[in-house]
Amino acid sequence: MVAEAGGIAPVAGAGEHAPRTPDWTCGTCGAEWPCQPKRDRLLTEYGVDRAMLSVYLGACLAAAAEDLHAPGATSLQDRFFGWLPRRRAPR
Ligand SMILES: [Zn+2]
Repeated sequence: MVAEAGGIAPVAGAGEHAPRTPDWTCGTCGAEWPCQPKRDRLLTEYGVDRAMLSVYLGACLAAAAEDLHAPGATSLQDRFFGWLPRRRAPR
């Protein structure tokens, strides 16, 4: 039993590109979640608050690993975080 990650479990809604469990495909377009429209939306929604976005994706990754029985799978890490645009390290 994994604790709810801060109560930010994804909520399905029409046109929301929300993940459909337990396979973690998009409930709207059927692509592997996060699908491209969702990625664009997340970047827009979280904007500069990339830390919060990472927290959200981390929670989703943990839930997906549980559902997909792939704990710590590198491919899941890539899937949930690999698409994030790189930012130059602050210096
Ligand atoms: Zn989608």
